Amino acid sequence: MTEKFRLQIREWLDENCPPSMRTPMPADETPTGGKKARYKNPDTKQWMETCAAKGYTAPIWPTEYGGAGMSAEQHQIFRQEMARINARPPLAGMGLAMIGPALLEFGTDEQKAEHLPKISSGEIWWCQGYSEPNSGSDLASLQTRAVPDGDEYTINGQKIWTSGADSADWIFCLVRTDTEAPKHSGITFILFSMDQPGVTVKPILLISGMSPFCETFFEDARALRSNVVGKVNEGWTVAKRLLQYERTSIGSGGGQSQRPVVDFAKDYIGLVNGRLADAPLRDEIVAHAMDDRAFALTVRRTTEESRSTQAPSFVSSMFKFYGTEQNKIRFELMMSAMGTQMLGWEGGGFDDMELTQTRAWLRTKANSIEGGTSEVQLNIIAKRVLGLPD
Ligand SMILES: Cc1cc2nc3c(=O)[nH]c(=O)nc-3n(C[C@H](O)[C@H](O)[C@H](O)COP(=O)(O)OP(=O)(O)OC[C@H]3O[C@@H](n4cnc5c(N)ncnc54)[C@H](O)[C@@H]3O)c2cc1C
Repeated sequence: MTEKFRLQIREWLDENCPPSMRTPMPADETPTGGKKARYKNPDTKQWMETCAAKGYTAPIWPTEYGGAGMSAEQHQIFRQEMARINARPPLAGMGLAMIGPALLEFGTDEQKAEHLPKISSGEIWWCQGYSEPNSGSDLASLQTRAVPDGDEYTINGQKIWTSGADSADWIFCLVRTDTEAPKHSGITFILFSMDQPGVTVKPILLISGMSPFCETFFEDARALRSNVVGKVNEGWTVAKRLLQYERTSIGSGGGQSQRPVVDFAKDYIGLVNGRLADAPLRDEIVAHAMDDRAFALTVRRTTEESRSTQAPSFVSSMFKFYGTEQNKIRFELMMSAMGTQMLGWEGGGFDDMELTQTRAWLRTKANSIEGGTSEVQLNIIAKRVLGLPD
């Protein structure tokens, strides 16, 4: 049965995945979807739409919300077959990885019917309004205020590091709805459109010349009360779960689903008697590949163990911590193999793949900060997984 499924997926991918979607993905070709998306490579849009039509942008979501309704086992096979041909993800972003799963768990039927199909089809791009200038690791101290007004809320305050806010259509946002309650108790999780007069975004220019995130200002922004997810003042519960989805996604996204480091190394160092020419590097690459494999199996086992709930837990902090460290090591190893060819920024002497790898290497440094820093994950593991005292 599973072999038949594998064959079906393999044949479908062979027929439908364009050749340019089987190469490492430059950051500026990330398939975010959304109404403001610009597609540098037209294949990106075509690949997204072809997959969306089959439910392959959201393989495990129910078909009624645009998913393919795959079981965990089928999803594993799907991922393996995608990795086999180095297929790029057809759609990426916070809609699929974060707010979608949170809505599946906490959303009302109306919220699911309204938002999920627009996520899986790539119609709407979401951003995350969590961090504020004085509330990062201590997120529950957030101050952005929401005040009820008829069937809406009026929102005032500021968020920061809002990834993609200048291109996003909607935001999932944490707002304070009770200023008297203890800090974790007065927070509400709410959704609203970014395309309204009360929302202003200011991209933060990085040293790389890119602006992947923004300062986001709310001045009397409006949100419908019906777009509160979970209960008013109990948004912390939804917020924490969403972080678990985010951390699982950041931590378990790499490794087995990426081109093996040894393939890069073979291209740049070459083989002697069928083995990688550089013996010490060979040992390091093998050790890393074994750790990757063990990690992937651990993620899989944990997913299977939590199959009844279909939701992550505090263990996601272990995935986030370990997976992001593994990803950083992965890129350091590629750097060792590719040498100065992985230090190009622009101009001649470097091909597109090499220039992509340089940027991807730098981007890995943020993996252990975004979604909660490594130190914060270690605190959570100590308290919530190991049960150590505060
Ligand atoms: C690439 C990227 C994308 C991001 N995208 C978004 C986004 O879309 N939306 C959003 O809301 N936010 C986003 N963030 C923000 C991110 O969530 C925060 O940067 C992160 O939670 C850390 O908060 P901070 O930057 O305020 O650091 P701080 O909380 O000020 O931490 C500074 C340092 O102190 C350490 N520290 C803090 N508290 C403790 C503690 N209790 N124990 C031990 N060490 C501690 C931290 O580990 C860190 O090293 C993004 C960040 C990055 C890097």
